[in-house]
Amino acid sequence: MAGVLPERLLLAPGPSPVSEAVRQAMARPVLGHLDPAFLALVDGVQDKLRQVFGTTNRLTFPVSGTGSAGMQMSLVNFLEPGDTVIVVEQGIFGQRLADAARRLGAEVVSLSVPFGEIVSREQLQIALQQHPETRLVAVVKAETSTGVLQPLEGWADLVHHHGALLLVDAVTALGGIPVEVDRMGFDIVFSGTQKCLGAPPGLAPITVNDQALERLQERTMPVPSWYFDLSAIAQYLGRARAYHHTAPISMIYALDAALDLILDEGLDAVFNRHRRVAEALWAGLEAMGLQLMVPVSHRLPTVATVRVPAGVNEAQVRRRLLEDHGIEIAGGLGPWAGKIWRVGVMGQGAQIAHMMTLLTALRSVLTSEGHDVPSGLGALEETYHQKVGQA
Ligand SMILES: *Cc1c(COP(=O)(O)O)cnc(C)c1O
Repeated sequence: MAGVLPERLLLAPGPSPVSEAVRQAMARPVLGHLDPAFLALVDGVQDKLRQVFGTTNRLTFPVSGTGSAGMQMSLVNFLEPGDTVIVVEQGIFGQRLADAARRLGAEVVSLSVPFGEIVSREQLQIALQQHPETRLVAVVKAETSTGVLQPLEGWADLVHHHGALLLVDAVTALGGIPVEVDRMGFDIVFSGTQKCLGAPPGLAPITVNDQALERLQERTMPVPSWYFDLSAIAQYLGRARAYHHTAPISMIYALDAALDLILDEGLDAVFNRHRRVAEALWAGLEAMGLQLMVPVSHRLPTVATVRVPAGVNEAQVRRRLLEDHGIEIAGGLGPWAGKIWRVGVMGQGAQIAHMMTLLTALRSVLTSEGHDVPSGLGALEETYHQKVGQA
C-alpha cells in the first residue's frame, strides 16, 4: 500500500461514511458467484432491497457499477433510437440523464428549470400533451447538485395516462427519504450504494415493474449494451442461474450488511433521523448567518446547499476543512461551482454529533479566514431536541 490513508469524516454528498460492520463484511471470504451459499445471499439482498424501495417487484437487484451504471441500464433497455423521452432537468444529474439518452439516439424533450427550482406536474402535463409520442419520462427525485427534492405526487398516473413509463433516479434518496416505488407507481427506479445506503461506491440497486418488463418485448432491436441487457441478467437472477458476468462478490457482502443496518434500525427511524439531523443542520447554518440555497418547501434533507458568503474563498475553506479538520464537504457543480458548499446528510453521516463537529470546524476556518460568524451549535442542538417528540 502506498502509505497510510487518512481517516476522514465524509460529509460530502457521497461517498458517505462506511460503518465498521460493512467494512468487516467486505473482508469475508470470496465465494464463487454460482455457489449456492452466495446465491442465497443474493436472494436475501434482493429481498432487503425490495423493502427499502417499497416494492414487490420481482426484478429488484444491484447492478454491477456505480449509480451511473443504474442510469445507463435504465435508459439503454427502455429506449430505442428515435424514441421520445421527456427528461426533467433541474440539475447536473437531470442533465446527465438527457445526455445519456441522446447518446442512445433518443429524441430528448428537455423540461428544464433553473438550479434550485422544481418542475410542476402541470409543466409535465403540457409537455406530455405536446409530445403524445413520448415513451418515457425520466426525473431525478433528489437532485444532489442543487439540494432540491422534486415532488412526484400524481406523476405516475399522468405519465401512464399518456402511455409512457416513469423512470426515477433515486440515488440520493434511497435509504435517506421514503421512495415508495409501488405506492408512487414508479416503473423503473435506480440508486447507488454510496449515498444514503452507507456502503462503498460500486453497486446500483435497481427495480423494474412488470409493465416496464413488457416493454422489453416490444423492442425492435437488441439492447445495444451487452453488459446492461436486463433480460440477460434476469437469467442469472432467475431459476436458470445462467452465467452472465461475475458478480462483484465483496461489494454484495457490503450492501447486504448495509441493508441489515438500515432494516434493523427500522425504515421510519432511519428517515426520521435523516430529517431531524438535516433540520438541525439548517438551523445551525442559518444561526451562523449562512444562507441555504433552496426554500424549505422543496429542500432535500439528504444534501444541504449553502451559499458561500461574499469575500470567502470557497475552495480554500474546503481545503482547510479537509487538511486541518479531516472533514470532507463538496463544492458546487455547473452554474453553482465556486458559489456554494454541499453537505451530505447521508446514511451513517446523518448523525447530530457529526454536524456539531462540522459546524465547529467551519466556524473556526471561517474565523481564521477573516470572516467572523456566530456559533451555530445552540440552534443546532435546540432544533434537534425540539424534534424528539415528532419522530
Ligand atoms: C451520485 C449520483 C449519480 C451518479 O452516481 P455515481 O455513483 O457517481 O455513478 C446519479 N444521480 C444522482 C442524483 C446522484 O446523486
